Amino acid sequence: NADIPQPVLDVIARLRELGHAVYLVGGCVRDMVRQVHPKDFDVATSALPQEVQGAFRKVIPTGIQHGTVTVLQKGTHVEVTTFRSEGDYLDGRRPSSVAFERDIVKDLSRRDFTINAMAYNPLDRELVDPFGGQADLQAQLIRCVGSAQERFSEDGLRPLRAVRFAAVLGFSLDTATRDAIPATLAVFRKVALERVREELVKLLLSPRAESGLHLLADSGLLDVFLPELACAEARAAETARAAVQAAPLEVEVRLAVLLADLVDRPRARDIGLRLKFPKKVADLVALLVEHAKAESLVEAPDAALRRLLARLGLAQVAPWAAVVRARVRVRQPDALPAVEALIARVEALAAAKPPLSAKDLALTGGDIMATLGVGPSPVVGEATRFLVESVLDDPSLNTAETLQQRLKAWHAQAAR
Ligand code: ATP
Ligand code: MG
Repeated sequence: NADIPQPVLDVIARLRELGHAVYLVGGCVRDMVRQVHPKDFDVATSALPQEVQGAFRKVIPTGIQHGTVTVLQKGTHVEVTTFRSEGDYLDGRRPSSVAFERDIVKDLSRRDFTINAMAYNPLDRELVDPFGGQADLQAQLIRCVGSAQERFSEDGLRPLRAVRFAAVLGFSLDTATRDAIPATLAVFRKVALERVREELVKLLLSPRAESGLHLLADSGLLDVFLPELACAEARAAETARAAVQAAPLEVEVRLAVLLADLVDRPRARDIGLRLKFPKKVADLVALLVEHAKAESLVEAPDAALRRLLARLGLAQVAPWAAVVRARVRVRQPDALPAVEALIARVEALAAAKPPLSAKDLALTGGDIMATLGVGPSPVVGEATRFLVESVLDDPSLNTAETLQQRLKAWHAQAAR
C-alpha cells in the first residue's frame, strides 16, 4: 500500500464509510502486482455517479454519462468510475449502451486482458482476480478476458492494445489471443485513427518497440494503418525496426527513423497527418525524414552544413542528430565515427549561432531598398536571397558595411 497516494486512500475510505464497495482497478493494480510504480490510480465503486458527487466537496463531472467523475482531494485529481457493464457493440467501436452494476466482477469482465482485469481493495488488502490475471503476469502473457474472437469483434482496437501491451511489458500473446487477430481485422479497420495513433505511440516508445513492430506486421494489423511499412521488403522492414530500437524515446525521432528509408518527405508528412498526429509533429517527422541520410555530408564544407542548419532550424539539430545516429548505427556501423564527427561539426556550427535567414542579416529590408535605391519590388527578394547565400558561405560577411558593398557590386553586375 506504500505506493498508493494518500488522497486516493482518502477517497476509497470515504466511499467505504458510506457503505459502498470500492476498489482500485485496471493498470494500477497490474503495476502493483508486478511491483512497478503505477502512473495513475483509477478507483471503481458501486456508488452511482450522483452518490460519488454527493460524497465529496470538490467534484468535476468528467464523463458522467459513462459513470466517471473526478474528485479533487488535497490538490490531487482522483478518477472514480461506477462499476459498469457494456451493452452490445454495434459498430466495433463503442458499446451501444452502458449499465451501472453493483458487482465488481461484472465490471472486471468487460475489461480487455486478464492482467488489466484485477481489482484491489487497499483497506482490507483484498485482490479480486476472477480471470487469472496474476498467473498471466507470472507467465508474462497477454490473454483476453473470455473469448478473444468475441472481445476483438466488440472493439476493434483491442488487438492493437494486445500487441502494445506485449511490447510495453515484454510479454507474449497467448495463442488463442494471437490467433484471433487475423479473423477480426475487418473490425480493426473501423477503429478511429486517433485511437490507433495513441496505441502506436505507446508501442513506439516502449522498450521493445522492435518486437512490437514485428508482431504488428505478423498479425496483419500493420497493413491496415501503415501499409508503407507492411509492404516494405523484409530486409528493409527489419532494418527500420532495428533503427527504431536504437533511437531515443521521442515519438518524432522514432517515427522518422522508422520511415526514413521507406518514404520521401511528402509521403512521411501524409502518413503523419493520416494517423492524426498534430500538424507540427507531421511536419517535423517529414523534415527529419528528408535530412536523415546524412552520410553524404561527411566530407562537406562548413557552408553546406550551414545550409543544412538553415533548412532544419537550430531547434531541430538535436532530433536530427538522434535520427542520423540511430539510422547509421544499424545500417552502417563502420561509418559511425565519421557520422559522429559530422554531427559534432554541425552542433559546433549551430552553437556559433550563424546567420541562416533573411531575418538574421545585418541589413533590414528597408536598408536593402535604400542601398539599391528602389521601392518594394521583386529585386528586393532576389537581393535578399543573394545576401543570405553570401552569409551562409561566409558568416563573417554579415556586417552592414560589407553587405552594402556586396549588394552594390551585385546590383551593378545585374544591371550589365
Ligand atoms: P497504461 O499504463 O498504458 O495507461 P492502462 O491499463 O491504464 O495502461 P488504459 O488504456 O489507461 O490502460 O485503460 C485503463 C483500463 O481500462 C485498462 O487497464 C482496462 O482494464 C480498461 N480498458 C481500456 N481500454 C479498453 C478496451 N478497449 N476494452 C476493454 N477494456 C479497456
Ligand atoms: Mg492508464
